[in-house]
Amino acid sequence: MTVKAAIKILVIDDDPFMLKLIGHLLNTLGYRRVTSCDNGWAALETFDNPPDLILLDLNMPEMDGIEFMRHLVERHYAGYLILVSGEDERMLQTAEKLVNAHKIHTLGHLRKPINPSELSEMLQNWMPPSQSRTRSLRKVYPVEAVRAAIANDELILHYQPKVNLATGKVEGVESLVRWHHPKDGMVFPDQFICVAEEHGLIDDLTRGIVGMAFAQTRDWQAEGLYLRVAINISMDNLNTLAFVDEITAAICAIDISPNDIVLEVTESRLMKNLSAPLEILTRLRLKRFRLSIDDFGTGHSTLTQLRDIPFNELKIDRGFVHGMAKDKTLSAIFNASLGLAQQLDMETVAEGVETHEDWAFLRNSGCDLAQGYYIAKPMPASEIPDWINAWEANFNQLIEPPDACC
Ligand code: C2E
Ligand code: CA
Ligand code: CA
Repeated sequence: MTVKAAIKILVIDDDPFMLKLIGHLLNTLGYRRVTSCDNGWAALETFDNPPDLILLDLNMPEMDGIEFMRHLVERHYAGYLILVSGEDERMLQTAEKLVNAHKIHTLGHLRKPINPSELSEMLQNWMPPSQSRTRSLRKVYPVEAVRAAIANDELILHYQPKVNLATGKVEGVESLVRWHHPKDGMVFPDQFICVAEEHGLIDDLTRGIVGMAFAQTRDWQAEGLYLRVAINISMDNLNTLAFVDEITAAICAIDISPNDIVLEVTESRLMKNLSAPLEILTRLRLKRFRLSIDDFGTGHSTLTQLRDIPFNELKIDRGFVHGMAKDKTLSAIFNASLGLAQQLDMETVAEGVETHEDWAFLRNSGCDLAQGYYIAKPMPASEIPDWINAWEANFNQLIEPPDACC
């Protein structure tokens, strides 16, 4: 297939026989642009033109696979990774968790000696981002471009449904910012939010988003659609005490209730001043906004925040949700987070529900809400009403999927 022939694959292994073998297997599967390197440094030299997929040996004498991954993070590698090693399964699983923690996409791991059908299965349904409609290379934009995007109203919101696991009802949506770039098309938040935070633009950016999300909430209510709308707030927004007054004035002007709005907070970097966020969040809660602690379980949200801030909702990070049906460690962490939230009377949301297996496992978990690609990807506001109708009509089928064996 021509698409396969265009995919760039890099194989890194210190064993020349393995390089030959994997290269040959990939060629037989139709991949033509395969580059081999027998050490990490040589591989990094090819990064002017980064690959779509890397098959990485863990044990190499000069630079081991774990160290190589750190270089990938520094270079904002946006492609996929397959770990290859003769180490035992548990070691490979641990290394794969590290890949996830670095937010590098992975297709899984292969144990040596490599089983050709395992590799073929892994690649069967995979398409690199540059070949599919999803994100292109993660270029981070310069501050002036981000400033102009805010000033020129190029930021828009997409909405991703949050559904009740017991009833299937769509209880709310999370608003997620996108930049409608005049030349580059759709640009995702990880390419500009950090720039806005670092250069003091985040208040302007959030002000625009809050205005759009409030207006959308009101418009849906006018059509009879009552959804709780979540907005992502950066911790950097919580440095200025005026934030509470601004957001309260905005909601009064638009005539919706703060109880319809969920403010999702993640600590994206270390806070210099901890008392201001605490005061602001407490005041927002007094005004009846709902507060959600986002990405729970990662370094970004901590037990200290849980102790200090009166959150209504806890979102368990997708790193502990996707795949937990098969992974005891993940399910233990998931259950512990759930128990904690329940004891604190918080509503729970599982993020990153990607497969039917995730969904089925969650349905018996006691978690309140679910969100993820398995249910729906983020979409423009105009698509939400039809999507809800279709989802709620099909929900019964989803809880009892067609039985393959009878
Ligand atoms: P987040 O708040 O944790 O949002 C969830 C992210 O996971 C979204 O990415 C969403 O598209 C993605 N996602 C949803 N379901 C799945 C799934 O099943 N699997 C996987 N792999 N991903 C899933 P997105 O839109 O690129 O946003 C990334 C992050 O950028 C957000 O993470 C949030 O921290 C930040 N962000 C997004 N919108 C805003 C905003 O309006 N303001 C601020 N300050 N930050 C925002
Ligand atoms: Ca969020
Ligand atoms: Ca999250």
